[in-house]
Parts: sequence; structure tokens; C-alpha cells
Amino acid sequence: MRHRFTRPAGRIALTYLVIALLWIAFSDQAAEALFSDPRLLNRVQTIKGGLFVLATGMLLYILMHRTLHRIEIVALEDSLTGLPNRLAFTRELTQRCHISEARDQRFTLTLMDIDQFTDLNDEQGHARGDELLRLVGRQLRHLLGKDWYIAHLGGDEFGLLSPAGLNTQETRERLDWLQHSVMRSSSHDLMLNHTLSAGSCEFPKDARTGQDMMRQADMALSRAKHQGRDRHSFYHEELKRTLLERLSLAKDLRDAIEQQAFTLVYQPQWSVSTSQWVGAEVLVRWHHAERGWVPPDQFIPLAEREGLIHRVTECVVEKALTELHRAGLGRKSLPSLSINLSHLTLLNDNTMTLLHHLIDQRTADLPAVMFEITETATMENLDRTLKAMRSWRERGIDFSIDDFGTGYSSLSRLKQLPLTELKIDRSFIMDLPGDQNDAVITQAILAMAKTLSLNVVAEGVETLEQSDFLQTHGCTIMQGYYYARPMPIQELSALLTESVDSPVR
Ligand code: C2E
Ligand code: CA
Ligand code: CA
Repeated sequence: MRHRFTRPAGRIALTYLVIALLWIAFSDQAAEALFSDPRLLNRVQTIKGGLFVLATGMLLYILMHRTLHRIEIVALEDSLTGLPNRLAFTRELTQRCHISEARDQRFTLTLMDIDQFTDLNDEQGHARGDELLRLVGRQLRHLLGKDWYIAHLGGDEFGLLSPAGLNTQETRERLDWLQHSVMRSSSHDLMLNHTLSAGSCEFPKDARTGQDMMRQADMALSRAKHQGRDRHSFYHEELKRTLLERLSLAKDLRDAIEQQAFTLVYQPQWSVSTSQWVGAEVLVRWHHAERGWVPPDQFIPLAEREGLIHRVTECVVEKALTELHRAGLGRKSLPSLSINLSHLTLLNDNTMTLLHHLIDQRTADLPAVMFEITETATMENLDRTLKAMRSWRERGIDFSIDDFGTGYSSLSRLKQLPLTELKIDRSFIMDLPGDQNDAVITQAILAMAKTLSLNVVAEGVETLEQSDFLQTHGCTIMQGYYYARPMPIQELSALLTESVDSPVR
């Protein structure tokens, strides 16, 4: 196969060959014409030969120098942004550590990462993603100037090294300002629609080697992300402890998934208009050998971060269907079963196909399945979520929007979503009927649901007054401690059987 360098290399060699041959032919002729004395001619020939070797040696030197320089540029420069790449950054960082150690100087390493960059790539294509990376690189250069070492480490991550002379306070202030301003200081829509998170650590306070510095800055960056993004966070010892704890909990969670060590409880939903249990929400419980019961509010976000949420959901669906089947709870006694679905799972085709298959296989007489997805989650990734929901809706999967009222979704947005049900968040129910604001919001939500022909479930109903207020304004399905707490399957089964004989409340 012809290599793409064959042509240019051949051209250089050919040029050299022609020039050399012409030189030999004409310089010999010229020397012979000028010098007739054979001894003198011999001398001139030797000098001429020497000059030729010198000239070709220099030419070789220039060519090699240029080529090696190019290779170095290619190896150390990021072609997209023109900034140094990860390899260059790592080298510079190691060198900085050595120099700073010897000179007793300090410096700060910062890692920056564009929030929700994958969404941009997925929704608007890689060209837009690349454009944003170039803009960020340019803006960082512009805002920080030549004293800072700025690199594009790959993906959406940038690395910064502060200049040696800057003191701790100044550096911190500069970096806080930078994290806040990079995106906001540009008028480009791509920049204005995105935010950055940053994590920093200091030499020698937090670490003394390049590898450790990268690790600590990465921990600080994760913290900034977990605290809600668009933040700058500094490494500190406490962080390491929290992270280690999280890692150990994540490991235990993996084991729990492996052993299917979750327990399920079901919280039934009561219809005040028909005086019947009309459904139940399944809620997962995890009993940890040392920590006792770990609340789902803690381990579900962990499972999402660790990429384990799909397996948790698979466990929940499979177990719930098996338990209902064993308890002989059919559609008659329990018309519908609500299952919480993380938006990450909704967007994962493989898991959704598996869940669909699990549900489809057992439809015989089991309750109809409704997936609950939080309002905030539907807004995370607008287009993809909408597409996924529509496609699953076409395949017969029903969706309920959970924690409604907390996510600021507009009426037009809601209209687009293929929903069957809406669940008013507990925070609005809590202070009913006394709190005027909550009363107005709840009424507005109910009116809106009516316009959109959606069923409404009120969550966290704890008193008769709350229930009465909700019923007066058109909400008829109640879920909350006033009616029933989440309970194991045997209790649910007993409750449902008992209510057929003698209706509750
Ligand atoms: P959620 O979906 O909003 O579930 C309702 C939560 O409110 C449950 O807490 C339930 O026990 C609690 N609750 C129900 N009625 C009342 C009440 O009258 N008063 C009060 N104070 N609380 C009430 P739980 O079981 O701790 O679940 C917390 C969250 O964890 C759930 O919120 C849900 O977002 C998540 N979760 C639970 N199970 C799963 C699951 O299998 N998959 C996923 N992805 N998330 C789950
Ligand atoms: Ca829920
Ligand atoms: Ca909820």
C-alpha cells in the first residue's frame, strides 16, 4: 500500500538527486575550466566535496529539526483548541511539582468541566460540541493571559496551572471569578446556555506528585458537580473521607444488586370518589449489614452516579411482579402498579426493552404498570426524554409525572409529554389547607391537569383536612400516611382482600 508520505518524501529525494547530479556535473566542468594545474585542481575538488558534504549535512539538519518539531507539536498539542493536550499537561505538571519542591513554591491545579456536555453532543451534534470546546479554550486564554498554563485534557475537560508567584488568596479569588465568568463573559449563545464546574487542589498542601494532584482536583470537581454544578470547589481532607465512604457504599450496593438483597414495600392509593384502592406505588428498601436501613433518597442517587440504577430498577420490576403474582394480586384487586423510573433508565434502550419484556410476559392478570418519572428529570434532557417517552408510550407503557410542581415545566411542555397521570408533590400538600400559597398552587395544578385530561394523585396526604381540601378541588386519588403507609406485600394483600369485604374509610 502506498503511504501518504511516499509522494512528498519522493519529491524531496528527487529534488536532492537532480541538484546533486547537476552540481557534480557542472562544478567539475567549471573547476576543470578554471584550474589547469592538476595539483591545484585536485585541491579544489577536495574543497568542493567538503562543501557539498557540509551543505547536505545542514540541509539534513534543517529537515530533521522541522520534522521532529512537527511531531512534537502533533504529540503535545490538541488539534481542536490549539491548546496543550493531556500529555503536555501531565509533563508540565510533573515538572512543576519538581521545580516547586526545589524552590519551595506553591501552585494550584484546577480541572474544569462543561456541565451536561454530553447532552449538547447528543442533541445538537458533535460539531456544536466541538465549537463550544474551541470557544471555551479561547475564552480561558483570553481571561487568564499568558501566565497561566491552560490545556485541553480531552472530552469536555480543561486543566489549569496557576503561575508560581500568585498567593493562595489571590489564586482562589481568581479561580472563583473565572469559574463564574468563563461562560457568562461571552455573547455566544452556546456559551450562555452552558455552565462550568471546577475543582482545585494546591501544591504542596494537598499533594506533592502530579498523579496525586490530579486525583485530588478530580475529587474536588466531583464535589462541585454533586453540589449542583456551576460551582468551584477546593479539595480538603474531609472530601477524601466522604469519597472513600461513598466508594465503600457503592461496592456494597453492587453486592446487594448481585444478591438481589432489596426489599419492596407498597403504598396503596385510595380513590375517595369510588372508596376503593385503585393502585399502589412500589418503593425499594435496602438493608445494609452495618448501616441498617439505607433510605432510597440516599442510595438511588448513588446508584445513578455509579451507573447501577438500571440494575436496581430491573431488580425492583422483576421482584414486584413476582411478589404480586405469588400473592395472587390481580387487576381486580389492584388495578395499577406504579414504579419509579430514573430518567437515565428511560434513556437506556437496552434496560427499557428488558423491562418492557418483563412486563409484557406477565400481563395476564397483573396490575397495569405505570412508570413514574420526576418532573425535574423530564426537563434534564428535553428532546431525548420526549422521544423516549413517546416511543415507549406507543408500545403501551404509561407514564406518570412525579413530584409535580417542583420543576417549573410549562403548560406547553406538559402538553407534549405523553402522560397519563400527574402526582402533586408532597411539599404542596404538607401545609394544606392553611397555607394560602400552597392552596393556590394546588388548585392551579388541578385545573391544569383537568385541561390536559390527566389523572391526578396527591402524595403525602397525612390528614383528613388535606384530603377534604383536595377532594373539594377535584383531586380524587390520595396516597399518604393518612390512608396507608408503605407496607410489605403480605400486608398489602391482606388490606386489599379486607377492603373488598368491608371498604376502608
Ligand atoms: P417518591 O417517589 O416521591 O415516593 C414517595 C415517598 O414519600 C416515599 O418515601 C414514601 O414513603 C413517602 N411518603 C408517602 N406518603 C407519605 C406521607 O404521608 N408523609 C410523608 N412524610 N412521606 C410520605 P421513600 O420510600 O423514602 O422514597 C423516597 C424516594 O426514593 C421516592 O420518592 C423515589 O424518588 C425514590 N425511590 C424509591 N423507590 C425507588 C425505586 O424503586 N426506583 C427509583 N428510581 N427511585 C425510588
Ligand atoms: Ca414516586
Ligand atoms: Ca413523589
